[in-house]
Amino acid sequence: MSADAPRDGVTDFVVAIAAKKSDTSISGRDYPQALAVNEPNSDIVVMKFGGTSVAGAEEIKRAARRIVAARERGCRVVAVLSARGKTTDELVAQALEISPRPVEREMDMLLSTGERISCALCAMAIHDMGQEAISLTGSQAGIVTDSFHTRAKIVDVRAERIRETLEQDRIVLVAGFQGMSTESKDVTTLGRGGSDTTAVALAAALGASVCEIYTDVAGIYSADPRIVPGARKLPVASYEEMLEMSASGAKVLQLRSVEYARNNGVRIHCRSSFEDGPGTLVVSEEESEQQTMEQPFVTAVTHSDGEARVTLTGVGDEPGVAGRIFTALADAGINVDVIIQNEPVGEDALADLSFTVDRADLTAAVDTVSELKVSQGVRSDERIGKVSIVGAGMRSHPGVAAKVFEVLGGEGINIEMISTSPIKISCVISADRVPDAVRALHTAFELGADAVKAEDPMGDTHRPTVGS
Ligand code: ADP
Ligand code: ASP
Ligand code: MG
Repeated sequence: MSADAPRDGVTDFVVAIAAKKSDTSISGRDYPQALAVNEPNSDIVVMKFGGTSVAGAEEIKRAARRIVAARERGCRVVAVLSARGKTTDELVAQALEISPRPVEREMDMLLSTGERISCALCAMAIHDMGQEAISLTGSQAGIVTDSFHTRAKIVDVRAERIRETLEQDRIVLVAGFQGMSTESKDVTTLGRGGSDTTAVALAAALGASVCEIYTDVAGIYSADPRIVPGARKLPVASYEEMLEMSASGAKVLQLRSVEYARNNGVRIHCRSSFEDGPGTLVVSEEESEQQTMEQPFVTAVTHSDGEARVTLTGVGDEPGVAGRIFTALADAGINVDVIIQNEPVGEDALADLSFTVDRADLTAAVDTVSELKVSQGVRSDERIGKVSIVGAGMRSHPGVAAKVFEVLGGEGINIEMISTSPIKISCVISADRVPDAVRALHTAFELGADAVKAEDPMGDTHRPTVGS
C-alpha cells in the first residue's frame, strides 16, 4: 500500500471479510458495531466519488489512490464516478446556448459524457499505480432504465460484465448518472445527483458489503454545513429520516438512491474524500436506534431553493378534477411536492390549487396542466424556498409544528404553504429568507454540535469541512 493511502473503518472490515475466507481467526466481532456491514460474505465494495472529489487532476489521483488502497487490502472494487467539478452545469449551459428547450434525448447524450471523462481519466491513474482497471459507460455496465429522458429510473441492473471483470482481478469504474433504455435503445440520465443512485443500484445488484459515498463534506449533518457552520455530523441516520431529508433538499444523497437503498437493504456510508473519519451510516430505523445513544426528536433542518410553484386559478370544485391534474403530471414523469387547495367560497364554487415541483420541471408542469383546460388560469412562481425539520422522534413529540411556526413568525418569515409527514414538517417560504429560517430553526431545536455532545461518540473532531 502506498504511504499516503487512506485508512478507513469500513473497507478495513471488508478486508477482514476477504481475509476471513482463509484465516478463521478474524471475526466480524473484532470490528466496531457501527461499522458492521450487511452482506458479511461479500468482499465487493462500491465506492462513489462526487463531482468535487474528481474535479482536478490531483483529486482524480486521490480518488484513484483510495480505490487502489481498497483493492490492495483485498476488496474487489467497483467505483462510480460523477462528472468533474461543474461539468454537468457547463454542459447544460452549452445546450441552452444552442436551444431554449433542448430535445431531451440529445440532452442525455450530452450530459452522459461528463461521467465518462472522469472514469477514463481515473482508469489511467489507476494503471499508473500498478493495478488493472477498466472504465464502463452506464449501458456497458448493464444499467437498464425506463425511457424518461433526463429523469430516468433504473429498472434493472445486468451486472454480468462487471462480475466477470472483477473475477479477472480488475477494478471496474462505472460512469454514474446514466443508463440505457432497452425499449428505445437510447442513453438516458437519472436526474441531477444521479450517480448516488448508480452506486446504490450496483451495490444492491452485486451484493456489495457497503456503498461508500465519498463527497466534499465529512458526512450527513444536522443542516447543510455551508449554511450552518456549527451543524453536527450525524453518526447514523435511518433510511426514513434520510428519505425525508433528501426529499426536502439535502442533496448530499439523491432521494432515489435512498429509496433504492431502503428497498434493497443497502447500507450507505457517506464520508469525506478529503479526510479520513467515520462519516455517517444510513441504515434501517431499528439499527439506527440501536446505535444512537440519545434519540433527539428532531434530527435535522433541511432546505431547498430549487423548487417552483404552479397555481391553477378558478378550478371547478367537483369530484375527479384533482385526479386528472395529478395523473397528467405523473404521466409526464413530474414529481409534485407540496399541494394546497383553498376551500371554494361564494356562488361559483371555484377553487385555487397550488403545487410545487422541481424548478427544472416547471415548464413541463405548466404545459401539462394548461393542456387539461380545467382552470381559468395557470400562474407560476419560478423561485420559492422551503425549509423543513426532520426527525424520527417527532412521532412521539407533540408541539413540534407549533414551535416551527413560532420560530419562523419570530423571525418575521411568512409561511406560504405547509406540508407534514409523521417525521417531517415543511414550510414554503420566500426563497431569500431560507438561510435565516434554517439557522433560526437549527438554534431553536438545539441541533448544533455543542448542544448534543452525548450523541456523537466520535466527538467534536468531525466538524464540517467544506470543500470549494
Ligand atoms: P457530490 O458532488 O459529492 O455528489 P453534492 O454537492 O451532491 O456532492 O452533495 C454534497 C453537498 O450537500 C455538500 O457540499 C453540502 O453543501 C450539501 N448538503 C446539504 N444538506 C446537507 C446535510 N444535511 N449534510 C451534509 N451535506 C449537505
Ligand atoms: N453529474 C451529475 C450532476 O451533476 C450527476 C452526479 O453528480 O451525481 O447532477
Ligand atoms: Mg451529489
